Amino acid sequence: MDSYTDVCRLCSSTHDLLWVFDKKLPGAATISLKDIIFAISGVEIHYKDVISQKICSECYQLAKITYGFREMSIKSNKILKVAIIPLQAD
Ligand SMILES: [Zn+2]
Repeated sequence: MDSYTDVCRLCSSTHDLLWVFDKKLPGAATISLKDIIFAISGVEIHYKDVISQKICSECYQLAKITYGFREMSIKSNKILKVAIIPLQAD
């Protein structure tokens, strides 16, 4: 086990690790897990990184929840902005 590669990139856990480039979030088939992690945490994980390209199962679950929250917020905001346009025209 290598302490730089066999560790969660997001929380430093060494348990239940999965490779970021192997996994997609359900319902997010068009965006990669590494792009989701960047969108919600600002952490960029590259294929050629010499440090860990893995996250733990808990961070994976958090990524799923956080990405769902992000998508819901964006969608709701978009709907509200579209709804206000006719009101502003009056
Ligand atoms: Zn983690």
